[in-house]
Amino acid sequence: VEERLVKQEKLSVSGELAAGIAHEIKNPLTSLKGFVQLMREQPHLSTKNVEIMASEIDRVHSIVEELLVLSKPHKRVQKCFSLQEAMDYVVNVMKHQALLSRVEIIVERSSTESDHVLGDRNKLIQVMINLVKNAIEAMEDGGEMKIRSVKKNEEVWIQIQDEGVGISTEQLNNLAKPFYTTKVKGMGLGLTICNKIIHEHNGQLTIQSELGKGTIVTVKMPIHKLKFE
Ligand code: ADP
Ligand code: MG
Repeated sequence: VEERLVKQEKLSVSGELAAGIAHEIKNPLTSLKGFVQLMREQPHLSTKNVEIMASEIDRVHSIVEELLVLSKPHKRVQKCFSLQEAMDYVVNVMKHQALLSRVEIIVERSSTESDHVLGDRNKLIQVMINLVKNAIEAMEDGGEMKIRSVKKNEEVWIQIQDEGVGISTEQLNNLAKPFYTTKVKGMGLGLTICNKIIHEHNGQLTIQSELGKGTIVTVKMPIHKLKFE
């Protein structure tokens, strides 16, 4: 299976990005407007409708939040931390959610040697949570997810392998584009944000996939040599 490097998309507000943002924000606004009109006609809106309105407002809110994350010049947090330890943290956070989707997470460690990287641990955790979420969402009928840490020369890799729907060659080209999603409730910003964060850490994100079989997403990070080693 061909391994694809996820290209770093330009995140300046291109026409395409602006159109995507407009579209994503317009949908919830349109439905909110509909409810407001309904309220004018029949002021006693049912609780259910109010709840829908609240969740539509949440949706606009989270879109704006994610955009802020993307557009902010990042504050440089440069700390040395173990990527494997961060991965363990992510597994603990996501285990429960995975089991609810009948997904079992299996952790495979290749070595106990130092796998320290330099950067922002929280951001890297955010990346891994996004990737694990995608893997869970790809396995509609449940299955096994393998999370592997591998040391390759001067790099440490975290691989997330699922037995999900897989990704077609055509889809692979669009994955990291802002707002590209194949999910009904997807926002399509997850991989865009992951890729940006990984590039800011001088790392790479690659994807191998076979339609109907599954996907392996790999985060490759340069190892940070500890001074006392
Ligand atoms: P979202 O999850 O909101 O759709 P992402 O940027 O996280 O946005 O992912 C974009 C798209 O990439 C998804 O809609 C899906 O089509 C595809 N994708 C990402 N990860 C996987 C995976 N592990 N298996 C299959 N498809 C995936
Ligand atoms: Mg996602």
